[in-house]
Amino acid sequence: MDAAEEAHIADPNLGTVVVTAAELEQRIAELGQRVTADYEGRPPLLVGVLKGAFVFMSDLARAIRLPLEFDFMAVSSYGSATKTSGVVRIVKDLDLDLSDRHVLLVEDIVDSGLTLSYVRRNLLARGPASLEVCALLVKQGLQKADPDLRYVGFTIPPEFVVGYGLDVGERYRNLPYVCRYMGQ
Ligand code: 5GP
Repeated sequence: MDAAEEAHIADPNLGTVVVTAAELEQRIAELGQRVTADYEGRPPLLVGVLKGAFVFMSDLARAIRLPLEFDFMAVSSYGSATKTSGVVRIVKDLDLDLSDRHVLLVEDIVDSGLTLSYVRRNLLARGPASLEVCALLVKQGLQKADPDLRYVGFTIPPEFVVGYGLDVGERYRNLPYVCRYMGQ
């Protein structure tokens, strides 16, 4: 029995796997190669949006063959646990100055795109030399505005998922794959 099967048997709220651990590994290696090629000679500052992006950012960073720097911010959106309202508050701000830096914003999942659009505007106001976005997951058809994503891992159906950084009530972030959550 593999880890996915064991976790699923132990928890009836976990549904079918959407992205397997092997698919994540292969796609992140590809993304790492693309970022390495694109940022040759101008190493980026990776900015992760906590908490969801921490697993992806850690694997992505190790697939990039450049001298990286890292910073993190945490945002919380007002709304229910599973729906974003679009009103976003910075809970933890960055430590570093972004001016004249090549910033690569690392996001776990883009659903309505409202969180990303807020964070992007906020970071742009700090005067980076460039700002691009790398999102692991993008939900099909839900973005209200064109989210302008430079790098995307997977486009997935518009269903609530957990694992690989994504939680419900702080649980499931350490699942090594992405699966549907049935407990809504
Ligand atoms: P958006 O602002 O794009 O609607 O939502 C983005 C944020 O909502 C993500 O950073 C994530 O925290 C949360 N989110 C959106 N969809 C999902 C999902 O399917 N599962 C989990 N666990 N969180 C999600």
